[in-house]
Amino acid sequence: MSAALPFISLSEPSLHGKEQEYVGDCLKTGWISSVGPYVERFEREFAAYVGSPHATAVASGTAALHLSLIVSDVRAGDLVIVPSVTFIAPVNAVTYVGARPVFLDVDARTQGLDPARVESFVTRECERRGESLVHRGTGRRVRAILPVHLYGNAVDMVEMRRIARDHGLALIEDAAEGISARLDGQHVGTFGEMGCFSFNGNKILTTGGGGMVVSADPARIQRARHLATQAKSDPIRYIHDEIGFNYRMTNVQAAIGVAQLERVEDYVATKRKHHATLSRRLAECGIHLIGAAPRCESNHWMGLLLLPSTHHEKFLAEMTARRIQVRPIWSLNHQLPMYTGDVKGELPVSEAFAASTMCIPCHQGMDDEAVDRLARGIEEFARSTGVESPRWPPETEGKNR
Ligand SMILES: *Cc1c(COP(=O)(O)O)cnc(C)c1O
Repeated sequence: MSAALPFISLSEPSLHGKEQEYVGDCLKTGWISSVGPYVERFEREFAAYVGSPHATAVASGTAALHLSLIVSDVRAGDLVIVPSVTFIAPVNAVTYVGARPVFLDVDARTQGLDPARVESFVTRECERRGESLVHRGTGRRVRAILPVHLYGNAVDMVEMRRIARDHGLALIEDAAEGISARLDGQHVGTFGEMGCFSFNGNKILTTGGGGMVVSADPARIQRARHLATQAKSDPIRYIHDEIGFNYRMTNVQAAIGVAQLERVEDYVATKRKHHATLSRRLAECGIHLIGAAPRCESNHWMGLLLLPSTHHEKFLAEMTARRIQVRPIWSLNHQLPMYTGDVKGELPVSEAFAASTMCIPCHQGMDDEAVDRLARGIEEFARSTGVESPRWPPETEGKNR
């Protein structure tokens, strides 16, 4: 393959709006650190965009998760229900507060935490003791559910909210990958008590690095903001009323964020168009992408190509030779050495998902020619190997209910 071919990456930032102008403002005025007009503006405009009354900007999506767990009263020794299939950040955040994860399976249609699995766990393996829901096996308090919206799809948050309310559990959404993704027309991240977003460089809307916490509860947002600012309680004197963190977003990052937000609908429209093109073309040779979940407008953060595990290595090598970046999905967290001892349910769909999927590029920086090159690469791979996509939802689905 010619090295002159442009590299098609899995994700890349688009910085062709007013980023330069707004960052220039910061440099000219000297407001480059964690205070400044762009921080407030980004918080205000982001909250309005996702339809949440309150928001506070932070240093990363991981910081957003950590703060959300603290303000939701998740404490040392508690259990928090998470999916095993996710980027590791939400699982790690659970341990930052001294709590432990409970890994439950995902719904094949949403790739996110399966409400039926959550309900079965809390009713069959846990019991009420006074104010608390206690896991019988460990004697630990179950305090929160932390669903993760993966690859731009949406977990069934309506059902998840009902379960959280029925059992007195906090509901914290990891919507790090979910900008512009909606369920029943409502933006993900606004169903639970707390919603967390990431603006890391590989996310659709980026500030280089950054995150946002949203909530309908002003007290929790105020506390999250306070904790992100070293819990400093006096504007002049160094008086701190609890142990806080340096988790604030800078004005420069927020300036980039404001410019990105002006373009995000265009980005996602382009991604949806690319996704439709790829789905249509690949279907002709027996290869399928996982589509949007029921009632969900996905942002198609990345394309999820259905490919049997027998062909993953070959596909990776072939695409690398074509200067196209592809990757397997995350390794399952319950198999990582830090988490092998934690409570878990049966995970057949998570295992099938990891074994049947590869991530392919589907970003707004790709033009029609790049989409065509990607589609041709996959078509040629399918023809030369004779591979076809496995069935999705997988056969294991039936055993789940
Ligand atoms: C990116 C990501 C995060 C973490 O965000 P950072 O800004 O990188 O800290 C958390 N959860 C998920 C699902 C992510 O994809």
